[in-house]
Amino acid sequence: MDFSACNLFIDGAKVAGLGDAFDVINPATEQPLASGNTASVEQLNQAVDAARRAFQTWRQTTDADRTTLLHKIADAIEANADELARIVVQEQGKPLFLAQGEVGGAVAWTRYNADLAIPVKVIEDSEHKRIEAQRKPLGVVASITPWNWPLMIAIWHIIPALRSGNTVVCKPSGLTPLSTLRLIELINDVLPAGVVNMVTGEREIGEAISLHPGIDKVIFTGSTPTGQNIMANAASNLKRLTLELGGNDAAIVLPGTDVDAVAEGIFQTSFLNMGQTCAALKRLYVHESLHDALCERLASLAKEQVLDNGLNEGVTFGPVQNARQLQVVSELVEDAKAQGARILSGGEPLQREGYFYPPTIVTEVSNGVRLVDEEQFGPALPVIRYRDLDDAVQMANDCSYGLGGSVWGPDPAAAEAVARRLECGTVWINGHAEVLPHAPFGGCKLSGLGVEFGVEGLLEYTQLQIINSNR
Ligand code: NAD
Repeated sequence: MDFSACNLFIDGAKVAGLGDAFDVINPATEQPLASGNTASVEQLNQAVDAARRAFQTWRQTTDADRTTLLHKIADAIEANADELARIVVQEQGKPLFLAQGEVGGAVAWTRYNADLAIPVKVIEDSEHKRIEAQRKPLGVVASITPWNWPLMIAIWHIIPALRSGNTVVCKPSGLTPLSTLRLIELINDVLPAGVVNMVTGEREIGEAISLHPGIDKVIFTGSTPTGQNIMANAASNLKRLTLELGGNDAAIVLPGTDVDAVAEGIFQTSFLNMGQTCAALKRLYVHESLHDALCERLASLAKEQVLDNGLNEGVTFGPVQNARQLQVVSELVEDAKAQGARILSGGEPLQREGYFYPPTIVTEVSNGVRLVDEEQFGPALPVIRYRDLDDAVQMANDCSYGLGGSVWGPDPAAAEAVARRLECGTVWINGHAEVLPHAPFGGCKLSGLGVEFGVEGLLEYTQLQIINSNR
């Protein structure tokens, strides 16, 4: 794919950006994969104009037509799955099996949304009147995505927007725009020109999007400070917002838990995508009776990981996506060491090319240490010993985020009683970080606003209209 000649999609045509030059770096090699220019603000305006024009016809397509077209998009993703997965590995860093899973997830989410029905609710049906709550599309939806699951998150934003009759302008992270560009190309082979457009750029274009009077909604996945900035800018025309922001998910392991039965699940959901997952398990509170045994199991799983370029055979663990995030993780672990933490595995970046940081288990820490209090968004898991369950719940909730949480234990009723006390949007029991197309997902506190997925997620792309008809 020639990225520099074509890194935007406006009104069905590939065009080169006219803004600032930028490189896309392969995190496993630190070498440029592609170079290009961001969109100019004028090009963003053109993309929004194209989406507004396309909205006039797209909004009138029938549900059946949209369902058919979205399944065709899923077919196209499936037909190009191998190419898409390889692009994801090269720009994002994850091992190939995980990128294949990301593409598989993109297909599953597309097909699920394709088949979702938009409900009409009858509020009154009496002799005198009928009142219906109907749902209309909003208009132009802007999607702004992060760099951790670039393809899947683009699908999470774009497909429900289309299903409910909106048109789209999307902006991937400048760190990982290549898989989104290929996706938008595939989508444009199926849909009429202007229905889905793409621009590139970072803060300047992001701010121009959230201030743009021609955009009706922003769906954003990324960090909390950026989400707050978008919310402030979106006030200009009261844009509808769905904000999926940062998290610092706590997990509580109850006394009596079978350490051997849960260790693998805890490890995998903490280090999913090298820990760069919004709803990864990021703080682990373990009852003192199990603490040492679980730490030992987690450290041995960490030491078994095979770190290398995600395209190589047998690799289980890739690099961190970018130099800045590597720096964040390194700093937090160094700070924990300075506070007396014990490092049971990993603990410093690998001395080699690429942004490699091994899976790191850190113990003898507690709330008040930065690695526990802040979102590490990378491969370092703090394990905190507790004696009293009320203290564990209090420490888990002592956090400005509220995305996910989990409780691990042998008795489902006891675990659920603890789950209900956690302040977060999703609580898993004997699991973590599992997102599904049919289960609404979203955060409380500083983790976000609104939900994605399921019917509830789809309805966030619609305007409620009440038809009050007198007989
Ligand atoms: P980020 O906020 O730095 O960037 C996200 C996107 O916003 C990028 O496309 C970026 O170009 C754009 N952007 C930057 N400044 C902007 C501005 N002022 N206005 C509009 N757009 C702007 O986040 P990131 O570092 O790419 O992603 C990591 C963060 O995302 C973590 O905090 C993680 O928890 C969060 N995340 C949350 C979820 C969720 O579902 N809650 C999912 C994935 C990631």
